Amino acid sequence: MSEGISTAAVIGSGVMGSAIAAQLAGAGVRTHLLDVLPKDLPAGKEADPRARTRIADEAVAKALKTKPAPFYVPDHARFVTTGNLDDHLDRLRDADLVIEAIIENLDIKKQLFQKIAPFLKGSAILASNTSGLSIAGMSAVLPAELQSRFVVMHFFNPVRYMQLLEIAAGPKTKPDVVERAARFGESLGKGIVYTKDTTNFVANRIGVYGMQLTTHTMLDAKLGIDTVDMITGKPMAHSSGATFKTGDLVGLDTLVHVANNCYDTLKNDPQREVFRIPAFVTELVKSGRLGRKTGAGFYKKVGDDILVLDYDKLDYRPAEKLRFDSIGAVRNIEDPKERIKKLLSFDDPAARFAWTLTAKTLAYSAALVGEIADDILSIDRAMRWGFNWELGPFETWDAIGVAASVERMKKDGIAVPDWVSRVASGAGSFYAGSPAARTYFDVASKAPKPLPKDAKALSFEVLKSDPTKVVKQNLGASLVDIGDGALAVEVHTKMNTIDGDVIAMLVEGVKEAEKNFEALVISNDGQHFGAGANLFMIYAAAQQKAFDQIGQVIRGLQNALQGLRYAKVPVVSAPFQYTLGGGAELAMAADQIQAHAETYMGLVELGVGLIPAGGGCLRMVERHTLHLQGVENADLLPLVGQASMTIATAKVSTSAHEAKQLRFLQPEDGISLNRSHQLYHAKQRALGLARAGYRPPMPKLIPAAGYDAAATIGARIWGMVEGKWATEHDALLARKVAHILCGGKVAAGTLLSEQAYLDLEFEAFLSLCGEEKSLARIEHMLKNNKPLRN
Ligand code: NAD
Repeated sequence: MSEGISTAAVIGSGVMGSAIAAQLAGAGVRTHLLDVLPKDLPAGKEADPRARTRIADEAVAKALKTKPAPFYVPDHARFVTTGNLDDHLDRLRDADLVIEAIIENLDIKKQLFQKIAPFLKGSAILASNTSGLSIAGMSAVLPAELQSRFVVMHFFNPVRYMQLLEIAAGPKTKPDVVERAARFGESLGKGIVYTKDTTNFVANRIGVYGMQLTTHTMLDAKLGIDTVDMITGKPMAHSSGATFKTGDLVGLDTLVHVANNCYDTLKNDPQREVFRIPAFVTELVKSGRLGRKTGAGFYKKVGDDILVLDYDKLDYRPAEKLRFDSIGAVRNIEDPKERIKKLLSFDDPAARFAWTLTAKTLAYSAALVGEIADDILSIDRAMRWGFNWELGPFETWDAIGVAASVERMKKDGIAVPDWVSRVASGAGSFYAGSPAARTYFDVASKAPKPLPKDAKALSFEVLKSDPTKVVKQNLGASLVDIGDGALAVEVHTKMNTIDGDVIAMLVEGVKEAEKNFEALVISNDGQHFGAGANLFMIYAAAQQKAFDQIGQVIRGLQNALQGLRYAKVPVVSAPFQYTLGGGAELAMAADQIQAHAETYMGLVELGVGLIPAGGGCLRMVERHTLHLQGVENADLLPLVGQASMTIATAKVSTSAHEAKQLRFLQPEDGISLNRSHQLYHAKQRALGLARAGYRPPMPKLIPAAGYDAAATIGARIWGMVEGKWATEHDALLARKVAHILCGGKVAAGTLLSEQAYLDLEFEAFLSLCGEEKSLARIEHMLKNNKPLRN
């Protein structure tokens, strides 16, 4: 799985090096992180090992404080061993992979390669994270044999969160080295794009072209920076950071560096002038206004206000709220293809601006096929994975109609390559075929070519394109045959919240799996595993005091989830991203979980004035006390106390690893770093259980912490109210949680059935539906999408 890479070394512990080391550690790879000796070693400290390794040590300490966090959990820093390039070169002998991430300077990189080459073992891969220096130039200093093991692995910042990993071979790199680097990159969760040895590779070449083009076009059109960002983000199916917010995030110095690199090296590029830095940007950089990291750039935060740069005055002003029909018309269109198509159908200044940028960027991308990457697929993926665009250039082109847009481009004097004109007059689109048999237009052979197959990349979209695989469906969920004897419940409500349809399909899923399959998996293709229960339904019923109806819903959910727990076949859930409230309860009802590394999981019901009543409290008691089953006179209070606080503070994990620490996940649960392989992993886990002679768990009795424990937790809660950490209503909710988790009014050690805990959840939930302050919290969440503290 990890291509024989169990130990790695990263050289250079700056922004990228420290974050790459964190990602490697998160994948279980022991990692050495080396940097130079500090120049200013204090007198008397020349031989002090800590002083000599200070740069890498401080880099790890900084990474542990960085937001968003490079490490999945701080504990992973233990897998990173810091060192320096004078004392610890020997450590490189252990490394299966060495990644260079030092300053972007060809000569300095070459010197480093010469220095480390004698220390690398014969099978090691040597990789550079260069943003776009010449690979041939860099690797020429290496011994010939090592050149065959040299490759560029270009990660994107922030490393943990950006999916793209560009891989480029040097002139002598062996294909199997490229292949190993790619497979290893996939195991780190990355999407691989193969790029050629050209300046700034694929994503930065097109992405920075787009940003520069936007800036020049803005100056011509005399539009404001905030107005341009309003147009170039979501409406154009790009990231919500649009142009200048993204610029501030990346750093103006970095952008200028990449653009200058293009300008200086791409002497034959007809679009070279686009890479010329506008005067106002040069001024910003000169005055140290580099974006977020220096507190000001294209925007500046002053108190709670975000001011925007007036580029004529080089000073900041309040944001303007210009209105355009086109932007208003597309705001609520979810499908990015529909959105951009609709935007470009208007004829107001915003739409014309968007058209100019789109047309030129598409034409530029087309002109670069063959030069920066072999195919359109690589370019589309690079822009989606590296710049968070919702659609790559050729996907955008298909969305807006190739024939019509090519005609309009030609009218506007924008040159398009001949092969694009042929697509326009021929097939009419770059991509074709059903999700299961998709093709893209291959420029080299001038014919459609199937998308490369990845046997581990299972998706419901592809599976369901064969209608015989859909066993049953309703509006909220489907039962899908995912092959090899596994059935899946795919939830597909808005934000994948749990409603009556989903509950019904979970029940059906168990029945169907027990009858015709070996195992059951729960997941979906959406943005989130599940963002809770359908709150509106509960609010409406609570307003009408329809408590019977609420009771039925809660019992329905509890029974469906207990049905999963005790199904005759193994059940594996595959949570990712938001896995909140009912979503977390659904995930925890399974026998085992195969979570994506980016799983933000929590029982957040208290934020809306409720408590988890779909078995969430029960599962937390179980997860916290299971290992003490059978231990006489075990003190359950600290464990149940901690579980109560996790729920009472609506704690959400910042990763799957943290979800383990919070015990939403259990020690045996799996973590997939690669989201596109997660469903496959979940299926294998479920089938593995089935084939290991799975038997459903025996209903167990769970010892209660008891009434006295609840009273002790209650005293702590009172302390929080006194200290103004919690409101009275928070305290009421927290006491209800403690009451449930301690087993109600029973003596410590009383053995309770699961149903007893579920009954306590049920009772507490219904009582809260009659509380004014709880209803106010729900209403506030429904209206503002933010919790209310009352
Ligand atoms: P950085 O300035 O944060 O870190 C550079 C590190 O190199 C520092 O820790 C420095 O001590 C070390 N260094 C300097 N001179 C050295 C030498 N002679 N020998 C060994 N180490 C030395 O830079 P960064 O942003 O982390 O970039 C590192 C590399 O990654 C560059 O090649 C850059 O182009 C590339 N890159 C950067 C980004 C980004 O967004 N920052 C993204 C992708 C790739």
